[in-house]
Amino acid sequence: MDVAQDGIEHRTYQEDKEDNSYRTSSVWRIGTLRYWRNQGNNLSKRRPALPAEDESSISGGATLRAGPFGDYVSTRIVHQRGSYALQRRRCYQALALLDRRSRFRDILPIMAGYDDLPFPHRQCLLHSVRSEPDRISASMNRADMWRRIETHPKAWDMIVVGGGATGVGVAIDAAARGYDVLLLEQSDFGKGTSSRSTKLAHGGVRYLEQGNIGLVMEALKERGLLLQNAPHLVHDLAFVVPNYDWWEAPFYGLGLKLYQLLAGKYGFGTSRILSREETLEHLPSLKTEGLRGGAVYYDGQFDDARLLIHMVATAFEQGATLLNYVEVSGLTKDAQGFVDGVRARDVETGGEFRASAKVVVNATGAFSDLLRLKAEPSATPMIVPSQGVHLVFESSFLQGESAVMVPHTSDGRVLFAIPWHGHTLVGTTDTAIATATLEPIAMEQEIEFILATAGQYLTKAPTRDDVLSVFAGIRPLVRATGVASTAALSRDHVIHIDRSGLVTICGGKWTTYRHMAEDCVDQAATLAQLSEKPCVTHHLRIHGFHGAAKELGSLAVYGSDAYEIRKLIETDAGLSERLHAALPYVKAEVVWAARHEMARTVEDTLARRTRALFLNARAALAMAPAVADLMASELGWDEVTRTKQLAAFRDVASNYVLHS
Ligand SMILES: Cc1cc2nc3c(=O)[nH]c(=O)nc-3n(C[C@H](O)[C@H](O)[C@H](O)COP(=O)(O)OP(=O)(O)OC[C@H]3O[C@@H](n4cnc5c(N)ncnc54)[C@H](O)[C@@H]3O)c2cc1C
Repeated sequence: MDVAQDGIEHRTYQEDKEDNSYRTSSVWRIGTLRYWRNQGNNLSKRRPALPAEDESSISGGATLRAGPFGDYVSTRIVHQRGSYALQRRRCYQALALLDRRSRFRDILPIMAGYDDLPFPHRQCLLHSVRSEPDRISASMNRADMWRRIETHPKAWDMIVVGGGATGVGVAIDAAARGYDVLLLEQSDFGKGTSSRSTKLAHGGVRYLEQGNIGLVMEALKERGLLLQNAPHLVHDLAFVVPNYDWWEAPFYGLGLKLYQLLAGKYGFGTSRILSREETLEHLPSLKTEGLRGGAVYYDGQFDDARLLIHMVATAFEQGATLLNYVEVSGLTKDAQGFVDGVRARDVETGGEFRASAKVVVNATGAFSDLLRLKAEPSATPMIVPSQGVHLVFESSFLQGESAVMVPHTSDGRVLFAIPWHGHTLVGTTDTAIATATLEPIAMEQEIEFILATAGQYLTKAPTRDDVLSVFAGIRPLVRATGVASTAALSRDHVIHIDRSGLVTICGGKWTTYRHMAEDCVDQAATLAQLSEKPCVTHHLRIHGFHGAAKELGSLAVYGSDAYEIRKLIETDAGLSERLHAALPYVKAEVVWAARHEMARTVEDTLARRTRALFLNARAALAMAPAVADLMASELGWDEVTRTKQLAAFRDVASNYVLHS
């Protein structure tokens, strides 16, 4: 249906309309606005032949989705200044949870954030939201995603294999450009390395020492964009480097000043040298013996698995279809031998299907070579897997609000002790391993190394009995010749196109996922001859964006979704019940994860929607039966499934418990 109203062109159409429940998928696109501003600041519907240098244009649209919790409007405005050749663009993303009556009122505070959006363009955004059509239900869930696949009439523009930071980043980028994207993840989103990082959005002080200035500058910029686009999940943190030798203060002081300067306008805070007293103010539980002082600098910290699930929601809002628990078992090729699709298997039912695509992106991290070998059995391996381990303790081991950074451990690595979700996270190691697995196990020598190193710096030396959780992750490092250890391998990302046309993106860091995705989509789109569309993720806000999330207390990591979780509690007070005295998680979070975040197993909920397993494995085990009950009622599990789910979780969780 095309409607012309108030001088705005509205193309309105409805996908898959179903009336009642939030389990149905429906989307209204309420208008693509296209205005060009003439010199006199007047809105004109007519497109000038060629805009002059000082003119600007705006285009964009809004999508309405609705669930049991109210309407949900995602609006994107691209403001372009200057000639098309210059293509200077800014993209404005507005996300609002609205109810039908308060829709107009509620959009205003969101608009307030767009101070620099010129007045006529604000009007466009308001218009687009006001004139949206009737409410229909939609929600991010697996049944709807399946329906999208089954009813997809043609080849996808892009299929992405792998639902970690890299793959989901690629899906966001491609969908936000307007490409038609399918992402398939063999397990849960973030089951691989992306939930097992040190949780630092950082430039990497260590890479500065290695002289990789380019990587540091890129990562510092991305760190700034992450904070800007996901302030509910990323925050700045003070890191203190304790000094024990006379030369350390000037040496680290200077290096960290350079680190700060390289961040430019994306800086997080001023680094400086600290006296002994100031160092102890930051870190009251630091060993004082031989301590001369320290140096403080600022980096970012985030919750990796939670950021990932919000990125999945962002990709979905941009139009991507994403499925967890679907393994890509093979690749299909056309008559010329070019990859033109995938063979996939639904891990839950065992059902197999094929999907074709103009380009397939391999974002399987440490497993990249396995998929490359499926495309080309003679492919030369690219990945050198390296394992890193973290231990989690009570917060009393690291008092204060700052982190410790040990720049040189006995094996020449960096070690961090960081306050995280009311606990102390210590890591990591860098141990070359032969093959990657989805559930890597910490080695004894790695655990002993972390305990011994932490004991050198903390007044209360941690022991095995103090470990609340131990987890390991695998770095998908890219092979290089002449490099002796994995710690010395570059953290730069690599985009490799095999002769079969399979695009592999690997290496890099969590922090740089957005930039990696931009590079990858540029390459993949060119290879597939997709129509050229610029990247719009620099200012794309991540789902749940909330500028003052701290006010949401223990639900802060959900950003604006926290209001919806509170509404669940309003309708059923029993859902406010804590699942364990040692952790802040309540029953409503389990319901939310199953309904709206595609949690399919007890492990998904306890490891990646909440972080219980990573914070306190024994507490997570104790919470599991209650979580299984709630999920059984949400997902319709029978007793056999519930029992199997619990057994599977206990099996995995035993890897996170450290025995004396
Ligand atoms: C110990 C450690 C600490 C780190 N700390 C930091 C840090 O503090 N900051 C930072 O910026 N970076 C950090 N990193 C790096 C960062 O975590 C990784 O670069 C990033 O998570 C890699 O993401 P990925 O998507 O490439 O891989 P993964 O997260 O492993 O995702 C790959 C996915 O592909 C899926 N897959 C594989 N095969 C198939 C198939 N056939 N079909 C479907 N799906 C498939 C897997 O199940 C997996 O989920 C750390 C890494 C490690 C190991």
